[in-house]
Amino acid sequence: MGWLLLRLLASTLSVVVAAVVGWLVGGAWQFPLVGAAVGAVLGAQIYALSDALRGQHFLKWLQSREATPPPRGGGFWGEVSYRVDRSQRSLEQRIDRERTRLDQFLSAIEASPNGVMMLDVNDQIEWCNSVAADHFGIDPQRDRLQPITNLVRAPIFVAHLQARLFNEAVSFPGPGSRGAVSVLIKPYGDSMKLVLSQDITERERSDSMRRGFVANVSHEIRTPLTVLSGFIETMSSLQLTEVERRRVIELMAQQAQRMQHLVGDLLTLAQLEGSPRPPADRWVPVRQLLTQVRAAAEALSAGRHELVYGSGVMSETGGDLIAGSEQELHSAIANLVNNAIRYTPNGGTVHVCWTVRADGIGELEVRDTGIGIAKEHLPRLTERFYRVDGSRSRDTGGTGLGLSIVKHVVQRHGGELEIRSEPGNGSSFKLLFPAARVRVVNSPLELQSTTLQPGADAAVGMAG
Ligand code: ADP
Repeated sequence: MGWLLLRLLASTLSVVVAAVVGWLVGGAWQFPLVGAAVGAVLGAQIYALSDALRGQHFLKWLQSREATPPPRGGGFWGEVSYRVDRSQRSLEQRIDRERTRLDQFLSAIEASPNGVMMLDVNDQIEWCNSVAADHFGIDPQRDRLQPITNLVRAPIFVAHLQARLFNEAVSFPGPGSRGAVSVLIKPYGDSMKLVLSQDITERERSDSMRRGFVANVSHEIRTPLTVLSGFIETMSSLQLTEVERRRVIELMAQQAQRMQHLVGDLLTLAQLEGSPRPPADRWVPVRQLLTQVRAAAEALSAGRHELVYGSGVMSETGGDLIAGSEQELHSAIANLVNNAIRYTPNGGTVHVCWTVRADGIGELEVRDTGIGIAKEHLPRLTERFYRVDGSRSRDTGGTGLGLSIVKHVVQRHGGELEIRSEPGNGSSFKLLFPAARVRVVNSPLELQSTTLQPGADAAVGMAG
């Protein structure tokens, strides 16, 4: 209202001043009234022209606002320029703030381990993060605004999208048939869709491993159980002689033992998987571990093999030390020695050696001159229930879990299992322990080998 009055005042003043000037000039020629009228018209026109020029200036500035400052000067147009400039700047600041927030929001979605994709009303890709792009095998920039069904052709996904029943997730093979992807679609806004995707390859793999494991365990237990129940039936329905009865009981005991071994190994594996890593400051003497293994090895071999404990296994002061769990380490070494005896024909040799390499890595090797293993089996040997020769394994009391336990134990101690073998030329299994878990007690180690004949009363591999 104030500006209206001011403008009225200014225009009136211009007209009055021009009329007065016209009246004075017209008066000089005896026509003061005509002069005043012409002056008033001219004054109004000059005022309108100057107003139009300033308005034009303002419009020009509005069009090219970014480069130039607002038109200076007071008056109506100066005030309009100033106010428009101020409101534009505050608008720009708000847009900048919103843009930053949007960028932060998109970066957060980008950092999500899950895929996020937005589809418009026509199922065209509005936006997707790089995880979703990877899951669907698309390019977030190139494929923007492309219909998703042109790019993702998995029939399950297409049917799900078209059925518009979005209350449960669907799974389908990932691009190039690698892995599996699970997708959940959530409608939002005006027929837009949010597509959330997740790589479930690992989950599917572990599910299938678990199913396989349960099937294997059931199979392994069912066989001795069937045999046992057969014998129980025989004993309860038939009159057996004393000799027959003893034989049946012996066979039943064998089957029970087989199940006991299996359950024992399963419990060991479960314990290894469910317990924290072995302590790095509890030192176990290598000699102690091997002394424990030795008696069982001799009993199993029963004089059929030469058992050699060599190279630095022991020292006078008690031998080198490994940091970790005595029980686990014993179980790993016992499994290797047990295998070496079981897979080495009579008259063969089993070596057990302990050395500390120059780089500090401790190496416990169990080597045999047995049947060996063909190359193609080596990568799978540590899988649960993997056997090269199933009947030989079972006949000798194997559960198919031994090497799996060994691998777990050595990995829990920060080390690794190295296997070398050739059919007919024996095998070598090495447990490699990191330097941080090995302590040399009697160095320099003297490499001396002591042959222990089964039943001999020698101390295990005394070095020094
Ligand atoms: P198992 O109880 O059957 O011996 P393991 O996991 O200990 O199970 O070993 C897996 C398979 O590896 C065995 O079935 C056997 O075929 C092979 N194997 C293991 N150790 C030896 C070895 N010292 N010599 C030859 N084959 C071996």
